[in-house]
Amino acid sequence: TVRTRFAPSPTGYLHVGGARTALFSWAFARHHGGTFVLRIEDTDLERSTPEAVQAILDGMNWLGLVHDEGPFYQMQRMDRYRAVLAEMLANGTAYHCYSSPEEVEAMRERQRAAGEKPRYDGTWRPESGKTLPAIPADRKPVIRFKNPLDGDVTWHDVVKGQITINNRELDDLVIARPDGTPTYNFCVAVDDWDMQITHVIRGDDHVNNTPRQINILNALGATLPQYGHVPMILGTDGQKLSKRRDAVSVMDYSDKGYLPEAMLNYLARLGWSHGDDEIFSMEQMCSWFDLTHLSGAAAQFNPEKLAWINNHYIKAADNQRLADLVQPAMLKDGAIFDGAPSLPAVIALLKERANTTVELAQSAMLFYRQPAPDAALLQQHLTDAIRPALKQYTELCRTVEWNKAAISAALKQVLAEHGLKMPQLAMPLRLLLTGQLQTPSIDAVIELFGRDVVLARLTNTAD
Ligand code: GLU
Repeated sequence: TVRTRFAPSPTGYLHVGGARTALFSWAFARHHGGTFVLRIEDTDLERSTPEAVQAILDGMNWLGLVHDEGPFYQMQRMDRYRAVLAEMLANGTAYHCYSSPEEVEAMRERQRAAGEKPRYDGTWRPESGKTLPAIPADRKPVIRFKNPLDGDVTWHDVVKGQITINNRELDDLVIARPDGTPTYNFCVAVDDWDMQITHVIRGDDHVNNTPRQINILNALGATLPQYGHVPMILGTDGQKLSKRRDAVSVMDYSDKGYLPEAMLNYLARLGWSHGDDEIFSMEQMCSWFDLTHLSGAAAQFNPEKLAWINNHYIKAADNQRLADLVQPAMLKDGAIFDGAPSLPAVIALLKERANTTVELAQSAMLFYRQPAPDAALLQQHLTDAIRPALKQYTELCRTVEWNKAAISAALKQVLAEHGLKMPQLAMPLRLLLTGQLQTPSIDAVIELFGRDVVLARLTNTAD
């Protein structure tokens, strides 16, 4: 059965690139009725603060990428790594290396000078018939992996195709430091083995680690997972997404008013495709998802397309849910909900044009603040020629049936009687009711405000 994993190193936020590989791993597991494992690679103690770990969990939660197993924490698996190290030392697939850092550096200098690729020269590598140097006093050894000396490491990458690396390109990797702590590639290999991962989908910044991990897995007698390395996400300028320039944290998009389902749909299309389908649910994605349609070309992050997709999901979203999302920001903005139109009804009117819930909150404020029309603007639109018409309309508002059709019919009646065009009356109405010239259609606005508010705002200023 399929077992995939997402293995983030906490950095303080969930990166959109990480979220995308998580989504692929999750969807692949879902597609096959498999298991999606979350593993936190928290061995970098400076960066892996509890807050940084929580930020990953928050991002995953927000997106709804629910793991079936875990989260496992590498820091809690140290005993296991030590046990595997001891086994490898015992069975000869790893060895103690007493070369000092200075010696290793000098070795590299010599190799560089000779035009060779720097690598550990094997001083402490045990071979049959070879006598090892005397162990220096007071020196703590590192543990090195006994990498095969020749032959190739080959894997069929589900994204990049066949990749072959000659073992001569690979070093005898340090798998434990002098203090006994295991190193990165070793931990990943042990974890993927223990967690019985069948498919490793990750960013292609890890391609160079893969042959090392494969060699370690082989030494452990593990069944190898399949690997798929997806290309980076690039910014609109074709450069790598940068933390300084771009919003790279998934939660930034939450703050900016994107819906998680829009984010997921957008991320899904960054490097994976299902024909020309642009809009699809996660249910559809999980039923369609396969590794063969992962693209080998770098995907470009396109904020306009994301906004378009977000608008689609905002239009489709339940109005009460949207209301709950925008209300806190509106309250902060000084919204007065008392006696004002119902927020879900306002949202129903406005969401068509909103690319984000932040925009939605801003446009909804129209209905929730005391209008303070600019005096000069009002003078310009509410001329003496218009006043009588406005007054008549206000009178009609006292008795007109309160629905959009009747409200609009009354408006047209007044326009006809006074020989006016719609904007001539609609503009001053907008100013008086909302303080703004830009609003949705005036009859809809009037209907939403309700008779009492409309009469109060029109009679104040109309005379
Ligand atoms: N922890 C690694 C990262 O965050 C990913 C490791 C992996 O997927 O193998 O970049």
